[in-house]
Amino acid sequence: MKQLEQKIVEDGIVLNENVLKVDSFLNHQVDPQLMHSIGQTFAALFEAEGVTKVLTLESSGIAPAVMAALQMNVPLLFARKRKSLTLKDDLYTEKIFSFTKQEESEVTVSRKFLSSEDRVLIIDDFLANGDAALGLAKIVEQAGAEVAGIGIVIEKAFQPGRNKLIELGYVVHSLARIASLAGGKVTFAPN
Ligand code: 5GP
Repeated sequence: MKQLEQKIVEDGIVLNENVLKVDSFLNHQVDPQLMHSIGQTFAALFEAEGVTKVLTLESSGIAPAVMAALQMNVPLLFARKRKSLTLKDDLYTEKIFSFTKQEESEVTVSRKFLSSEDRVLIIDDFLANGDAALGLAKIVEQAGAEVAGIGIVIEKAFQPGRNKLIELGYVVHSLARIASLAGGKVTFAPN
């Protein structure tokens, strides 16, 4: 997605060889026009998959995921990282290791909102080692539902996430693929 690549080049900050900061349009401040285009692109890529629900992880996945859900006319469900007082029982839970925080957290989804009838599109902001996407896929499978596909806004193609997901048989589409962050410079890989 050219528009996204351009935004990454203009506004992305390379923190080090492994981490890209995109606080100005995705992870803190959000660019709604760009999110709208991202939603349209995901909807087109997964059009044939019979998606009934979009699932993401709070909080940075929510903006692109809600736009995809809007385009596909299905609900958005986000897994919670912290236990909520109003979300106590009947939960699917998975432990997910956070790439950016370098700690494990237990994420939860209410059983009420996922059933064996669902075909779920998993969306996340970044793909690095694949732990977040895999944890979400395990929650979908706990519900007896099917993973219809995995949509990623920014994939770091030099990290192992994509290969892990492909080896497990998941369909993965990324809107921008980064080949390297070496030398403080973003180099893209072909889509
Ligand atoms: P994974 O679970 O695939 O190792 O990492 C994906 C998760 O870690 C995403 O949910 C995202 O929040 C975070 N993440 C991984 N790499 C980056 C990065 O380079 N920049 C930012 N801002 N977040 C990242």
